[in-house]
Amino acid sequence: MTGGTGAMNTTQLVVVMVWLGVSGVIWGAQSAIRIVVFDQAGTPESTLRKASETASWMFGSAGVETDWIVCPSSADPEEHCALPPPGEYLKVFVRRNGAGLKRTDNGMGLSLIARGKPNVVCYVFLEPAEALAEMAYGSFASAIASTLAHEVGHLLGLKHTAFGIMKPKFERRDVVAAASGRLLFDADSTKILRASRQ
Ligand SMILES: [Zn+2]
Repeated sequence: MTGGTGAMNTTQLVVVMVWLGVSGVIWGAQSAIRIVVFDQAGTPESTLRKASETASWMFGSAGVETDWIVCPSSADPEEHCALPPPGEYLKVFVRRNGAGLKRTDNGMGLSLIARGKPNVVCYVFLEPAEALAEMAYGSFASAIASTLAHEVGHLLGLKHTAFGIMKPKFERRDVVAAASGRLLFDADSTKILRASRQ
């Protein structure tokens, strides 16, 4: 009986190893896009981690691998995050709102886009995310995740679309959809994202 279970475990292990091998080939050609989330609003770290995981899943479902680092705000100036090498990551700043910034993306966030330059900085605002979460019965992390994916989507060259993550403005149902993994990049956005990674 024990021997039989052991044999089955070995088979399962082989299946997992083969799967990892295959996925390694798929992703091996192109490394993950690295994104660092800098909290400037005292957001609970667990909320930002959950939001980053959901945003990562959103990109993953479009075939794009992303690697997120959450850098919590700290009162100690000597406390630093372990960052990737300079120039090798996108920066997301999490703020209460867009006060002091010139132009915002319908209040949800802002991505700094300049022609002919790599676009690496965007902002996500908590107040509109909180308002959305309240309407959607408490999916704060999902509301942040939707904005994270949207603004990073702009940095990667995406424009607004009628449906999905690149909609110009989220509504209650979008946040509800995000909470259950149904808010995705639309087909055109997915094509552009995949093409940009080849
Ligand atoms: Zn936008």
